[in-house]
Amino acid sequence: MPVRLFNSLTRKKEELKPIIPGKVSIYTCGPTVYDVAHIGNFRAFLFEDLLKRYLQLKGFKVFHVMNITDVDDRTIRRSQEKHISISELTKKYADQFFKDLNTLKVKPADVYPRATEHIDSMIRMIETLIQKGHAYVTDDGSVYFAIDTYPEYGRLTRLDRSQQQTSARIATDDYTKDNPQDFSLWKGWKEEDGDVYWESPWGRGRPGWHIECSVMSIEYLGSHFDIHCGGVDNMFPHHENEIAQSVCATGEPFVNIWMHNEHLLVDGGKMSKSLGNYYRISDLINKGFTPEALRYILLGTHYRSKVNFSLDKRHEAQRVVQRVSEIYDRLLDLVGREATGDELPADYTHFEAAMDDDLDAPKALGVFFNWVRKTNSQIAEQSLTHEDALKGLNFIRRFNSVFDIIPERKTVPPEVLRLVKEREAARNKKDWFEADRLREIIRKQGWIVEDTPTGSKCKPIVP
Ligand code: AMP
Ligand code: ZN
Repeated sequence: MPVRLFNSLTRKKEELKPIIPGKVSIYTCGPTVYDVAHIGNFRAFLFEDLLKRYLQLKGFKVFHVMNITDVDDRTIRRSQEKHISISELTKKYADQFFKDLNTLKVKPADVYPRATEHIDSMIRMIETLIQKGHAYVTDDGSVYFAIDTYPEYGRLTRLDRSQQQTSARIATDDYTKDNPQDFSLWKGWKEEDGDVYWESPWGRGRPGWHIECSVMSIEYLGSHFDIHCGGVDNMFPHHENEIAQSVCATGEPFVNIWMHNEHLLVDGGKMSKSLGNYYRISDLINKGFTPEALRYILLGTHYRSKVNFSLDKRHEAQRVVQRVSEIYDRLLDLVGREATGDELPADYTHFEAAMDDDLDAPKALGVFFNWVRKTNSQIAEQSLTHEDALKGLNFIRRFNSVFDIIPERKTVPPEVLRLVKEREAARNKKDWFEADRLREIIRKQGWIVEDTPTGSKCKPIVP
């Protein structure tokens, strides 16, 4: 079945037909590294992880580029507030970002270009835009994109340009849709920029935020590529401006499918430091969330719906993770760890159909958990055939290659193994008191012992 994705540009679900058959090129707007990324940002990065993993499961080769915004209004302002260099600031937060990605088991992009390493290409694209009459230089050594020179401007966000004041222009990177204006491609140096500047044909200055993404996407993916992602807040002005710059500079179509994730809310509202509900990944891990539970919470809602996060979601999410881990273990016990095969249960078709339909994760999870319930009953009644168990294992493996919510098996430490053996010896002697005492010691070390017909088994405790 083909994959259909909702294209924000056409507001329709469209079949994914990669420009090069079998290969999908994706650009995702990465973090602005002026602070630690929050859980809302990770909603965006996990949606992109889901998209990429699902396309890979469908057999596509994916080439994924995610930029790191390491120079813009926010990074400059923050480095000055902290009295440190911009490179010291951005290195610290980029390092933290990669750690958090790893914690959440996000598959790394193929390239993470940094804006400051592509300034020359940005200058070249701005020169092209000036030569083609789409940009103009102002007295302070800045360069602006003239939105009137691109009649398609505003197509992505359905902008009503009839009320527009044509002469207005804006120097800051972010502004609202109510007032579309000529935006800056290059910002002439001002005193508050301190030592953050590069030489250019227009004097010292620095690039605007929007040109950064046009240049880095085209540099690694070519002038025309398959998918561009970001959060809904990026649609205007950032993506609208990216389209204008890229199409006017190259004369090519730029992006085939634009995908935008909705926002994450906390306790039903915007996250805020003053309300104490502004969460980073490390805060949540310290509060007892596992990476798998966070993945489940962030991926369980459709990417085009708002997801509401609250601390009390932890228990339910951990229970779900535990349930999936348990059925995975049971099936492994039934068919053996080495068992392989390609056959799948009938339910898989419905799972795939839901994911093919614009990554409908809630529906796909519904299908999966329904199958888990049925299969658990069959295991309890001992009516699950070896063949069905193997098909089930394949389903879980495919499911988990996309959602990745089964914790990795920790190897049991030798000390715990020794205690388990001692406990077994005590049980053989029917010394139940000693067996219970040892079970408690093992539990304190983070492991649960289960007595099965084939001997004692050890599992890590899921908090
Ligand atoms: P930034 O570091 O601000 O450039 O944002 C990085 C990514 O996170 C962008 O794709 C944003 O659209 C996205 N984003 C920011 N806040 C949220 C939120 N509350 N929920 C979901 N995505 C967000
Ligand atoms: Zn971007």
